Amino acid sequence: MAAPAAAPPQKTMKDWQTTTASWWCPGCGDFGVLAALQRALAQLGYENHEVTIVSGIGCSGKLSGYIKSYSYHSLHGRALPPAQAMKLVNRDQKVIVVGGDGDGFGIGAGHFIHAVRRNVDLTYIVMDNAIYGLTKGQASPTTPTGMVTSTTPDGPIEVPVNPLALYLASGGTYLAQGYSGDQKMLVNLFEGAIEHEGFALVNTFSPCVTFNKLLTYQWYRDHLVTIDGQKVPHDPTNKQAAMARVLDGQTYQGLIYQEKGRKPADKAIKAVANAPSPLVKLDLGAPNYAPILENYR
Ligand code: SF4
Ligand code: MG
Repeated sequence: MAAPAAAPPQKTMKDWQTTTASWWCPGCGDFGVLAALQRALAQLGYENHEVTIVSGIGCSGKLSGYIKSYSYHSLHGRALPPAQAMKLVNRDQKVIVVGGDGDGFGIGAGHFIHAVRRNVDLTYIVMDNAIYGLTKGQASPTTPTGMVTSTTPDGPIEVPVNPLALYLASGGTYLAQGYSGDQKMLVNLFEGAIEHEGFALVNTFSPCVTFNKLLTYQWYRDHLVTIDGQKVPHDPTNKQAAMARVLDGQTYQGLIYQEKGRKPADKAIKAVANAPSPLVKLDLGAPNYAPILENYR
């Protein structure tokens, strides 16, 4: 009698590492985000070729080069449009978008709102350090009012963008907030977001040790409130309760909102949902450019 086939070896985060030298400053919070994402992908059992990481521009954007998967390093604030296209033409691919607070909530804010309400099945991880790190410490959309930066010697006069409220108001279906210094929680939140069907946001506090001297690891240790269901009871299926949480002035980590059952775009758009295979695999025939070129002779 033949011996039963051996189970494939369990993946580890090492299976998701590359040999690319890191560009990040020692101690940067982005290391913790990268490690948590690699752990989550390993634990969920994905194969490397099943995942695409799309990044914007900024220190956070470097992450797409440090993970062993397909990757696309896009333009500043423009990671979401190509990521949506990738998902819609290849619905079998797990597409994860990474970027920063300036990238996603400044120049990319318009793309963010419309991608959320379109509910394309993507995971969006924003590494929120409340500063522009790559360009040396300018105020970003999430910099607290009054925090001194290289462009605001007296601090910004603006109130910071509240990305969690913006996400809920735009119709988002999976909202979590994490912190790169709490790996266990962050891995859980990333796993939940990756497995969620629809546009999931994990806003992730990722301290910039070089340019943000206010929102440090110590600050998060002192101020972050964990939604744990006991000390901080919360019903993540209740949208009004979620909105109240994100507007109450506290800084939370945990799952804030999840709505199940709403069709993601690749199931709601009939041409995509009813196609016999992902669009990228359909034989559309060789394009005939001759009539177009004829006009330019
Ligand atoms: Fe990280 Fe800040 Fe250094 Fe950029 S500048 S790599 S965000 S610590
Ligand atoms: Mg930033």
